[in-house]
Amino acid sequence: MSGGEMAEIQRAFDANFVAPAGPQLQEFEASFLAETGFKFCVAVTSGTAAIHLALRGVGVKNGDVVLASSLTFIGSVSPITFLGATPVFIDSDPETWNMCPLLLESQLSLLKREGRNVGAVLPTDLYGQSCDLDRIREVCEKYCVPLVVDSAESLGSTYRGKSTGKGASAAIFSFNGNKIITNSGGGMLASDDEALICEARYLSTQARDPVPHFEHRELGYNYRMSNILAAIGISQMSVLQERVTRKREIFSRYVNEFEEIEGLKFMPEANYGRSNRWLTTILVDPKLFGVDKEQIRLALELENIESRPIWKPMHLQPVFEGCEKVGGGVSEYLFEHGLCLPSGTALSDGDIERVAGLVKQLRR
Ligand SMILES: *Cc1c(COP(=O)(O)O)cnc(C)c1O
Repeated sequence: MSGGEMAEIQRAFDANFVAPAGPQLQEFEASFLAETGFKFCVAVTSGTAAIHLALRGVGVKNGDVVLASSLTFIGSVSPITFLGATPVFIDSDPETWNMCPLLLESQLSLLKREGRNVGAVLPTDLYGQSCDLDRIREVCEKYCVPLVVDSAESLGSTYRGKSTGKGASAAIFSFNGNKIITNSGGGMLASDDEALICEARYLSTQARDPVPHFEHRELGYNYRMSNILAAIGISQMSVLQERVTRKREIFSRYVNEFEEIEGLKFMPEANYGRSNRWLTTILVDPKLFGVDKEQIRLALELENIESRPIWKPMHLQPVFEGCEKVGGGVSEYLFEHGLCLPSGTALSDGDIERVAGLVKQLRR
């Protein structure tokens, strides 16, 4: 926490806005727009809810196909199924670990020939690094498919100098407890399309028509963020840039620690952007390093230090058995060899040295 959160919560209590709406919700949205440069946004209960609203907003419907990153978190893709659409999982580009634009294009051209309706393309900005937004957007424009970017992990990162997701039909961000800033749980749907955001705001509050009685022409959701959580978010937004700086410092410290260590590589940073380095992730080559990523994880666990494998690709998840995938070898390799190191901004430099020291001791 930044230290300012309790004062913001107190402000909500003093105004008695302990409610699912209120002035701090608008302030939080305004602070998000100022930070990212998006024109419009709506704050909701989670990143997953924001993706649900985004996909519905761009017109994804029952029977559609949605092309999504395979190397991502489940919350990115489960909303596809909420709408009765079917995911097709696209593999990663080894240079960015994000959705490969070439595989995307070949799949879109195939689906077009087969006459199937593609409702949206949904790439993830993995571990804070933007997907190759311009190239993916060009492909989407060529095939007239809306682009929704899952920027849940990349708040504070840039693509060619602008916020991640900017220029897509819509982008979503998450304020879940593990993200770069958090209000304990929440999400943001952002777009430069005012109509899309207005419609999403309406759907997020039970699709209630603007009349005194409760009138509904369609079904919505109870997805709006509460004023109290927005209050926490205001204070968090004010430290976003500090958090990005610290995350990047943590990354550089690990890089210095592992310099000249054979068999350990870091997630590359693409030259088109600047990552918030949400998590520092490494690839372990067991032949060169001597032990594999699981042995490192277990050794850290013995010291009560948590590290985690990279996301298990969606095309390998039991729940998506039988789903279509395009490629898959790259994300499988990354899952097989990748480890997310402790990256919280509360870590001291000494903590990082300790973690790195333990890893280096395992070298054979
Ligand atoms: C965290 C996350 C989400 C979901 O956000 P919630 O706020 O937890 O619902 C979606 N996609 C990715 C890539 C995430 O990391």
